[in-house]
Amino acid sequence: MSRRPVDSPYQITTEFGVPDSYAKFGRHSGVDYAVPLNRQIFAPVSGTLTNVVSPTGGNMGVIFDGRFYHRLMHNNSFSRGNGAVSEGNEVAKAGTTGLSTGVHSHWDINTQGTYPTSFAAFIPPADFLAGKYNQVTPPPVAGGNNMFNTEAEVIEAYLLLRGTPGTAAERAPWIGQSKQRFFVVAKPEADSTRKQLADVKVALANLQAKPPTTVIKEVIKIVDRPVEVIKIQEVIKEVPGPVDEKATVVGVLKRFWDSLFKKG
Ligand SMILES: [Zn+2]
Repeated sequence: MSRRPVDSPYQITTEFGVPDSYAKFGRHSGVDYAVPLNRQIFAPVSGTLTNVVSPTGGNMGVIFDGRFYHRLMHNNSFSRGNGAVSEGNEVAKAGTTGLSTGVHSHWDINTQGTYPTSFAAFIPPADFLAGKYNQVTPPPVAGGNNMFNTEAEVIEAYLLLRGTPGTAAERAPWIGQSKQRFFVVAKPEADSTRKQLADVKVALANLQAKPPTTVIKEVIKIVDRPVEVIKIQEVIKEVPGPVDEKATVVGVLKRFWDSLFKKG
């Protein structure tokens, strides 16, 4: 999955691979999109963003997608800090910082990092957009689980891959995929859990004056994952209120947990 870093309208002023006296390796490493000043620049892929200020790239966002480094150069400003980004997130505003003669967005893609050492490291963005570099899903790892539903599973899979026989180059895409999966699945889920816990805290604070059964019903309405039950027990301990009332709530949550996980 990928997209252009700019929305239409834009004008491609320099294509990939053409002779370019400004370019470090004598050929243009990416594609230039001429756009108006401060036009939104979007993440072409999901991955990890690192903002860099470079003499040639200017304000440059670098997104590692687990396999390739996507550099977005000459931005007027950065729109967000370092960390996980999803495809389509705004990462910058267009400008003409660094080695540049007019407002444009330079997008290039390479296998090496922020500062590649040869032109061979680059791939054509047009081919990337066309899906020519899409990966096939790797087969399940022996002794492992290819489905990552929680942060813990992703970490487990990552450690398993590190210990799997094979060359580092063979394992790299798999490890990259584990990391991608973390950002796509586990991270939003963890954020959602945190949000739900905050909701529970508010609900409990609002319900202190009401009978325990009402409190329990409200809490159960919000809780939909067993891992949250455990965390909510901890939250309840912090919430002010009569001890016997809280004990009832904690007891119900424990039974809820047991009914899900400790059958037989
Ligand atoms: Zn360029």
